[in-house]
Amino acid sequence: MKALTPDDIRSSFVNATDEQLDRMPLPGLHEMIWEEREYLGWRDPKAHQRGYLVHWRDDRPIGIILRASDFSLEAGISAMCSLCRITQPSRQVTLFTAPRAGQAGLDGNTVGTYICDDLGCPLLIRILPTPGPLQPPPEEVLARRSAGLLERVRSFTADVAKTAS
Ligand SMILES: [Zn+2]
Repeated sequence: MKALTPDDIRSSFVNATDEQLDRMPLPGLHEMIWEEREYLGWRDPKAHQRGYLVHWRDDRPIGIILRASDFSLEAGISAMCSLCRITQPSRQVTLFTAPRAGQAGLDGNTVGTYICDDLGCPLLIRILPTPGPLQPPPEEVLARRSAGLLERVRSFTADVAKTAS
């Protein structure tokens, strides 16, 4: 993805209040390897239920604020992140809800989905299976995962940003 500046990030949120944005911590942007990311996602170290996700839609950064739900999946089973579609131990996948943009969100209307607990899908999809004779080459696997992740992130944030009008 194209690099994001702190200003890009702060101006990108479609579903956060000014107060929430004032309290938002920024992740360390200097050490970010942007070309290995489809989106930037991070949790709030001080308010652990809070999560943030920002990606580019054409030339515009789109950010959404998320809340991790108290509900946790049963331990010892597998779960799948709805964005990267990688199956993992259930404790690494969390139900997040995002308030809808505009009045709907202020009225308590949310969109919920299961996402990697650390909002780290871009790192996870780059852990590639050992190549085998029956498997496509790793670069093909990654290209397909990356395209799928981008498409699902875009459709998720478009759903959150959609207003009733
Ligand atoms: Zn994921």
